[in-house]
Amino acid sequence: MGYELMAEKMGVRIHYKRPPHGWWGCWDPDRRHILIHPDLGYIQRRSTAWHELGHAYYEHVGCSPKQELQARTWAARHLIRAQAFIDAARITDDLISIAHRLHVMPEDVRAWEKSLSLEELIHIRKEINGHTD
Ligand SMILES: [Zn+2]
Repeated sequence: MGYELMAEKMGVRIHYKRPPHGWWGCWDPDRRHILIHPDLGYIQRRSTAWHELGHAYYEHVGCSPKQELQARTWAARHLIRAQAFIDAARITDDLISIAHRLHVMPEDVRAWEKSLSLEELIHIRKEINGHTD
């Protein structure tokens, strides 16, 4: 699902206008809208939009490290599918290259990897290594 459809489902409006403080995006809980910097490239815009939708999903007000982690993890889980990661990781183990292949930011890949449960991690490692055990 694209982020614009997700925003619609969540009753959130996205405006391509400059957020304050030189940010790439921001979530306004009072107006239930998201501002996305209009000059971002495709990958930056997509990553930013999903991150801000994460804040919207959790109904965040304000900004704390815990909220940032929640939004980052929620975004990564929507941006990256396990099979796409496995396919990319079979070709390269370089974080930047994997991110490039997945059309996400490197920090999205990091957040995704951190969000994995032990079971998921074991499954994914086996898939990448081709069931050698
Ligand atoms: Zn944030």
